[in-house]
Amino acid sequence: MSIRKQIVKIPELELLLTEKEKKLAKFFKCPFKDEKCFFTTDLVKRFLKHMKLHQNHKEFRCIYCDLIIKQSNHSKEEFISNYIAHINDNHFQRIFQCNLCIYRAIKWEYVLIHQMIYHPEQRSV
Ligand SMILES: [Zn+2]
Ligand SMILES: [Zn+2]
Ligand SMILES: [Zn+2]
Repeated sequence: MSIRKQIVKIPELELLLTEKEKKLAKFFKCPFKDEKCFFTTDLVKRFLKHMKLHQNHKEFRCIYCDLIIKQSNHSKEEFISNYIAHINDNHFQRIFQCNLCIYRAIKWEYVLIHQMIYHPEQRSV
């Protein structure tokens, strides 16, 4: 079967998504995955509020480009909004990252299709 034939429309696709994959579709993701924080949202306000929970950190890593944004001599508020501004300004095209390898795509559907092909065994989580 060709890959092209497996591409389905988004509403149908959403029904096939696992909880983990639905989270992949959100724009803002908490960078503290290593600390078992898997918060994701599409809303700037909610993300801002969430990031305040991590304000003990002096630097945040961009989830899309790995750039480190440091607090330096900014206030916590400024630091967090600088971080969010960076993501908004540089990654508004929504560069989605496969959570199993380094594959990135402009649309999350592409990541999903990529996972169906390259990581079929891990998909059934
Ligand atoms: Zn978090
Ligand atoms: Zn970035
Ligand atoms: Zn992958």
